[in-house]
Amino acid sequence: MSMIDLNPYRRIEDDLQQLAQYTEEPTRKGVTRRLYSPQWAAAQRHLVQLMRGEGLNPWVDAVGNVHGRIEGRSRHTILTGSHFDTVRGGGAYDGVYGVVAGIFALSQIKKRCRVPEKSLEVVAFCEEEGSRFPMTCLGSRAILGAWQPEEVARLVDDQGTSLFEAMQMNGLDWRSMGEANRSDYEAYIELHVEQGPELEDAQCAIGVVSEIFGQERWLVSVRGDSAHAGTTPLARRQDALVAASAMVLAINTLGYRYEPIGIATVGILEVIHGSINCVPGHVQFSVDFRAAQDSVRQRLADEIRHAIEDEAKRYGVRVNISPKTVAQAVPMHESLRNTISERARAIGLSQMPIASRAGHDAQIIAQALPTAMIFVPSAQGLSHHPDEYTHRQHLMNGSVVLESTLEKLANG
Ligand SMILES: [Zn+2]
Repeated sequence: MSMIDLNPYRRIEDDLQQLAQYTEEPTRKGVTRRLYSPQWAAAQRHLVQLMRGEGLNPWVDAVGNVHGRIEGRSRHTILTGSHFDTVRGGGAYDGVYGVVAGIFALSQIKKRCRVPEKSLEVVAFCEEEGSRFPMTCLGSRAILGAWQPEEVARLVDDQGTSLFEAMQMNGLDWRSMGEANRSDYEAYIELHVEQGPELEDAQCAIGVVSEIFGQERWLVSVRGDSAHAGTTPLARRQDALVAASAMVLAINTLGYRYEPIGIATVGILEVIHGSINCVPGHVQFSVDFRAAQDSVRQRLADEIRHAIEDEAKRYGVRVNISPKTVAQAVPMHESLRNTISERARAIGLSQMPIASRAGHDAQIIAQALPTAMIFVPSAQGLSHHPDEYTHRQHLMNGSVVLESTLEKLANG
């Protein structure tokens, strides 16, 4: 690290702290900044200002993504960035770190080499988390044209506001959404906090992402028989909650068996019309399971299904499994990974390959463009949490590697 003056990079943490002020729930710890909320719009304006200050000629596209750019000799464009929305009660680093570091990287490259061979662009994606509308990665889908009008037309938030109405309140017209679509991007590099404990545990500065886990979500409905809690003997019950509990434990056991190449979680469990003096007759629960390869995910899916059916038989209840969403596992582009790895080595930072267990914009973009991701450590692996934290030194390390990678890709 001795050859690089890290001082200019210290401001990245300050910028992140400023952006963390834009939260919908100022009395709640953490950051809540959901798509098209007034605080989201304030953060968007802040990012436009930041890019303007760095001479990146910013503009807002048809869905509200903010772009900044350095024009190179060629129109071919290397893209970097991440998202600036958050989950409810999220942290100050998830997403927006990659945006701020991307702005800073372009600004540094511009100062050093004025006109690079290829053009460089930084994007702040309007939405990735799905925290307001039941859809994720709207920003990256929009730039690829990977969205269906019927699908987005149906989206409504929990207050009954449609996506189109929310766009309108931000001066955006859904009929122009197609204009966000771009065809001049050649590669995408996303810098992100790890959101897990692997880098910190390994005391490693940089993670070069090998693949992004595929992910599947199910809703499981368990039906037994509702009955009197006092008069119905235990042996005669068809208790949907007891059966569901056995299913949850079986799924957890499978998760343990597949870790680290797969993982499974029940995050929602609800007794429908539950009552303190009734044997539960109807329970619904969610299953989220992920794996590094699609073949592993399919095997895990089969095992989860069997486990649920076995427990249903044992407890005499009926089950219905509805698959909700599937995202394929996505390998990161090999030569881009090599470039990141080589830059980290040249800078003198420790590095390791790492799989991403969280979804990212990169997962969408990798379907269309050569894509790679850089991770930096998350303290205690915490994310989607108010105490999400990445040390200033790690923030600077990631930024330097991003900048060096972008410069290499732009100038060859
Ligand atoms: Zn993120």
